[in-house]
Amino acid sequence: MNTEKSSEKSTYPTKPLTRFITDDDNCWQLQEYQDLGGYDGLKHALTLSRAAVLDEIKASNLRGRGGAGFPTGLKWSFVPQGDDAPHPKYLIVNADEMEPGAFKDRLLLEKTPHQIIEGLLIGGYTLDADIGYIFIRGDYYSAIQHIEIALQECYDNKLLGKDILGSGFNFEIHIHTSAGRYICGEETALINALEGKRAIPRAKPPFPQVAGLWGKPTIVNNVETFCNLPHILNFGADWFKSLGRFKDAGTKIFGVSGRVKNPGLWELPMGTPIGEIIEHYAGGMSDGYKLKGYLPGGGSTDFLLAKHFDTPMDYDEIGKQRSRMGTGTIIVLDDKYCPVAMVLNLVKFFAQESCGWCTPCRDGLPWAAVLLEKIEQGKGELADIKQLEDLCKFAAPGNTFCALAPGAVEPLQSALNYFRDDFEQHITQKSCPYCVQSCEQSH
Ligand code: NAD
Repeated sequence: MNTEKSSEKSTYPTKPLTRFITDDDNCWQLQEYQDLGGYDGLKHALTLSRAAVLDEIKASNLRGRGGAGFPTGLKWSFVPQGDDAPHPKYLIVNADEMEPGAFKDRLLLEKTPHQIIEGLLIGGYTLDADIGYIFIRGDYYSAIQHIEIALQECYDNKLLGKDILGSGFNFEIHIHTSAGRYICGEETALINALEGKRAIPRAKPPFPQVAGLWGKPTIVNNVETFCNLPHILNFGADWFKSLGRFKDAGTKIFGVSGRVKNPGLWELPMGTPIGEIIEHYAGGMSDGYKLKGYLPGGGSTDFLLAKHFDTPMDYDEIGKQRSRMGTGTIIVLDDKYCPVAMVLNLVKFFAQESCGWCTPCRDGLPWAAVLLEKIEQGKGELADIKQLEDLCKFAAPGNTFCALAPGAVEPLQSALNYFRDDFEQHITQKSCPYCVQSCEQSH
């Protein structure tokens, strides 16, 4: 083992999730993972009581990294425990990454499958669960291949199956490729898909923690959430909290796409200001382009502007700016791309991905796409803007069965707020004021 690896093992890492990603092509395999301290978190967990592990996770303030930011320890605490608890209990990794602009889980799935498996095993032990599923986007071919090999490596090395590492704990993991719909990422639609049913969200309550897969207690967490667990067990809740620069704990894989000099992904402290991510890590705007706005956390969040650059990437702080941190993968809109075309592209995607269960989503989103297309082609009327605003209210949280439609109208409602002149100009000019190329790209 080289010295760099062993010194990293003995110190507190500041980038725990990506510390396993090296230049080595085989960094995703068991030997490499263990050389860097992989499975130490699980080994430590197995020396503690289940309740003690749950307490540590609760104390860490880890919040779900799929987009909603629900506290992980709190969610886990709803799972029935004790001799009377129903079995089997299930844990599911939501690896159905389909949020527009999000590609963070793909990095972890391809490069550190053992980190995900270790998180799943820690969860399995903590909740006295029996079976884990990795529900993965079907297009992630390399990731699927790596996970299949990683699972076999675990079965071959007593890290999965009966009596894991001689602890008496039994757990099995299966991989399931998704049917390829955005809605399969919503946890109850995912559960329906896993049961072989049509992927439509279920009414909550009951929450899956109590009655999920085949009616049994089930936890669904995002890939990145599971990846944090080995480190919390290894280095402790206080260390995890100390990583954040603002209120939220830990690190986050942030990303930037769009016309920036250096698009990509970086593991950074929670609370890193938005401007630092765009200007420093993504290198600022490409030559000849200016920033017009950006979606801070994927396609289903509200636009923010340069004036919000000081806002920390922290769930509640972004909320105060009337947007959401979502997946933390920023999509930048430049001054040469038509905002109407960008929103149309997103709304068309969400309309297509609607499961069709409730009216605001099934009928509202396609109608919003029709109106946006009309405006973008220079055939709109000012009354269409009012109708779009009404549709945004129609799809507000509380009026729909799940978060798809409310999320889908977030870029639209904020574009109508911040870029209203652009909408009006399309109507008064009867054409798109942006370059021809921008409109053609959206068709
Ligand atoms: P949600 O707030 O309904 O639920 C989030 C989690 O918290 C769930 O596990 C839920 O069971 C739990 N929860 C919430 N309230 C609870 C309560 N009262 N009691 C017990 N548990 C509770 O959000 P959601 O619909 O699951 O997710 C929406 C988010 O997903 C959006 O923020 C969006 O950005 C994100 N998203 C991400 C992707 C991706 O590719 N990563 C894709 C689509 C959507």
